Amino acid sequence: MIVMGSIDERVNVAVDAWLRWVPRWEPGTHRGRARLCRRCTGSPILAAAGIAADVPHQVTHALVSRMQRIIDKDVDDFTEAELPTLHAELTGAELWRSGGYDPAAGLDPEYEGLEPDPDPGEGEQPFLFTLAGLAEESRPEPPLPRPPLSAEEKRRLRNEIELADERAAAAGREVCFALVGHKPRIEAAIQRFVEPQIQAMLDELSRNLEPPQ
Ligand SMILES: [Zn+2]
Repeated sequence: MIVMGSIDERVNVAVDAWLRWVPRWEPGTHRGRARLCRRCTGSPILAAAGIAADVPHQVTHALVSRMQRIIDKDVDDFTEAELPTLHAELTGAELWRSGGYDPAAGLDPEYEGLEPDPDPGEGEQPFLFTLAGLAEESRPEPPLPRPPLSAEEKRRLRNEIELADERAAAAGREVCFALVGHKPRIEAAIQRFVEPQIQAMLDELSRNLEPPQ
């Protein structure tokens, strides 16, 4: 019942979408990120795509997020079709969340998985209004707690979580394997659209650093 072939096609479509996005990328004018990105740091997706460590994070993140969506979708579909206990558990959690404002909902892949609010720098005023704060305020009261799971239900749930993890790992490997085939296209796009902008920034920087004559 495990059909992996479609991941290949999804990777192809997602790389196409990323290639259409890259020419519009410009170096951010905001301060550098304060935290390490949990999604990108050490991701095998980067190695598979041939993306070097010095490529700007936004460019990297836009690709990693698109690949992550493919993996998540695959695991979601698998869970819905094959893992009834876990599916019921997740659907319950979703009902609990829905109704509130979710700052992470409906984001473009470039922004997915990042902190919704910029980090207030040290010694600066914190933001008076934050998206995370709004989400907290608009969260509905949780419904009455459900009856606790029986030992048998817990065992089944643990087993299904394990199967979902295995499925995610398999989908991740499949995505990486498919990505390797797109390496030349990805590398060419970075060389053409990203590297000249970084070089321009470095040139500008060194001009500003030159002592006045
Ligand atoms: Zn990232």
